[in-house]
Amino acid sequence: MENNKRIVLSRISRACEACGRDSANVRLIWVSKTQPFSAVERAIALGARDFGENRVQEALEKFLPQRDGVVCRIIGPVQKNKLRKAVQAAQAIDTVADLESVLKLEALCEEANKNLEILFQVNASEEATKSGLSMQEAFDFLSSLPEPQRLLYKGLMTIGKNTGNPEDSRACFAFLRDLRDKLFNTQPKFKDFTELSMGMTDDLEVAIAEGSTMVRVGTALFGHRSAIGSFHKI
Ligand SMILES: *Cc1c(COP(=O)(O)O)cnc(C)c1O
Repeated sequence: MENNKRIVLSRISRACEACGRDSANVRLIWVSKTQPFSAVERAIALGARDFGENRVQEALEKFLPQRDGVVCRIIGPVQKNKLRKAVQAAQAIDTVADLESVLKLEALCEEANKNLEILFQVNASEEATKSGLSMQEAFDFLSSLPEPQRLLYKGLMTIGKNTGNPEDSRACFAFLRDLRDKLFNTQPKFKDFTELSMGMTDDLEVAIAEGSTMVRVGTALFGHRSAIGSFHKI
């Protein structure tokens, strides 16, 4: 894992150099879904602080009780009846895409006396299997949101196209950046809208070139996930 980390960090810094960005502005999210508890512990020992989980139950099992300075982000879609547990387990939910979830999360955070970072997921690759706001509806939907109270509207998240060619995702990533800029620049409720979560193992260079501030990397750090995706606390 240590060598994997070195390789990923050097990919990030080379990608930043290539487009004149400071690599301090690209956070590495360690996607620990399906990985055992022991892998998370090893990653933390290597300095990892930001993790991504796509299932709320797994996030609860691996990230509670909360460790000092360790952030768990939910990067998979969350069913309405799991939002309460998501608020307990995570410091950020990166896949919000409907008003009912926003309102519920505000209420849950108020009840828990807690703040929560939110990213809105946009289906910028327009693949039917992916969740998120459609590109057509995203601007109007986001513009119509209420002022955040307990929530922090931090930015946007997307998953690139899974074609095997990272260049195919460039237009999705550029779309996301433009949308973030437009909201940040014109609407006070998006004053904290600085984040773009985009780029994974296969396309992080293109995502960084298009402005990503968080790359979500699983395979290149932890190795391949089992096909079944089972997870055991060991
Ligand atoms: C699994 C997953 C990742 C990590 O993918 P890798 O290709 O293993 O790096 C990133 N983002 C989301 C939303 C995921 O579900």
